[in-house]
Amino acid sequence: MAGNKPISRRQFVAGASAALAASAAAGEPKAGKEPGSSLAIHGGEKAVKTPLALARRWGKPELQQLEAMLEQDSLFWWKGPQGKLLSERFQQVCPLKHVHLCSSGTAAIHIAVAAAGIGPGDEVITTPLTDMGTVIGVLYQQAVPVFADVEPNTYNLSVADVERRITAKTKAIIAVHLLGNPCDIDGLKALADRRGLVLIEDCAQAWGARTKGRPVGTLGHIACFSLQDSKHITCGDGGVVASSDERFGPLLRGFGDKGFNRETGRHFEVFGTNYRMSEPQAAVAAAQMTRLESIAARRAQLGGLLAERIGRLPGIQPVHVRPEDRCVYWHHMFRIQPDVFRCDRAQFVKALIAEGVPASTGIMFGPLYEKPVFQRHAFFAGRWPVREFGLTAMDYTKHRCPEAEAIHQTGVRLPLDQRMSEDYILQVAAAIEKVARHFAA
Ligand SMILES: *Cc1c(COP(=O)(O)O)cnc(C)c1O
Repeated sequence: MAGNKPISRRQFVAGASAALAASAAAGEPKAGKEPGSSLAIHGGEKAVKTPLALARRWGKPELQQLEAMLEQDSLFWWKGPQGKLLSERFQQVCPLKHVHLCSSGTAAIHIAVAAAGIGPGDEVITTPLTDMGTVIGVLYQQAVPVFADVEPNTYNLSVADVERRITAKTKAIIAVHLLGNPCDIDGLKALADRRGLVLIEDCAQAWGARTKGRPVGTLGHIACFSLQDSKHITCGDGGVVASSDERFGPLLRGFGDKGFNRETGRHFEVFGTNYRMSEPQAAVAAAQMTRLESIAARRAQLGGLLAERIGRLPGIQPVHVRPEDRCVYWHHMFRIQPDVFRCDRAQFVKALIAEGVPASTGIMFGPLYEKPVFQRHAFFAGRWPVREFGLTAMDYTKHRCPEAEAIHQTGVRLPLDQRMSEDYILQVAAAIEKVARHFAA
């Protein structure tokens, strides 16, 4: 728009001198200036004027909990009061009967996959737009991740595409609530029930999210959460796996505790590994749990505000949240419609960064199957036994999820945090609007 309009001499002089002054101040070369543009990347004033100063995410409650922990004689998980407190607080948010604490979200999912009885050659369907932790446990059980495509506007699993990829070997679905936005869990649950599959929920990015008033994690068979540092609440690293299903819930403990059965004292009846959470981690996480509801509510509010502002702009499609859901915005994301702009996505993001918005391109790592370890099928010392033994014919070099790939190509990711002010969010919205209007074709 602005770029197509003829520019008056006054505008030109004003724009050019502002650009000159700014570039002189910044000591930048004059190349790349665009007369008449007020974009920061062309020397104009930044749209985001308030620098982000975020307070620490921990303080008194964590310190008090750690002090209480230091009075204990043991820091081991078994019968640990910190772990007990964390489990109780977890159950207040996510009311599931069997709760097991573990060392990471990756560990939680591995425990869930093992409890679901998934073994060599079994197929587990999940999204390619996720953290590697979603599939590490699947691969370690010698099972085969099968990636299904996603919905264009929520970036979450498409129920129809999941159904299309079910085979006689499929045992489970891992549903990810990406970026804190609940996936179509009812659709996936109906499908899983119809086809006799286990539904595991990966809630690592979705602490406090709800769908139709129900907390995520309570809708599938097994729920997995992460307490890693980037997540809504944290103890540095940690995880929770939980289930109310009597087929799986009682199995969660043993697998993450080397196959111990500490209740009966019968050891190594099952094979497992050490994914235990220690009391110091549990103390910090228990304190963090008291902050969760306000963090989730605040993120939902700020994310909704940003989506509402930028959703009106031509060519900008913010992540779609179903009206009955609470998205807790682990990050914010929007897609740009390339034909609406005179710039490509990379230029759009560069301009945003110049405006003071710490934007990035794409969605985390992009489709997982495109990553070298999948392309080379090099999971175990460079080899993949299940394929060598003929238990799968999976070839990730031929795997395709077109919508997931398109989302990664057109997506712009923005950090979102409960400590941001509404004013800051409005400045971010203004920056996006400014860049979008400048580059409008
Ligand atoms: C962070 C994350 C994981 C893994 O959690 P860790 O605690 O880092 O192991 C799994 N799935 C998703 C979607 C995540 O964001």
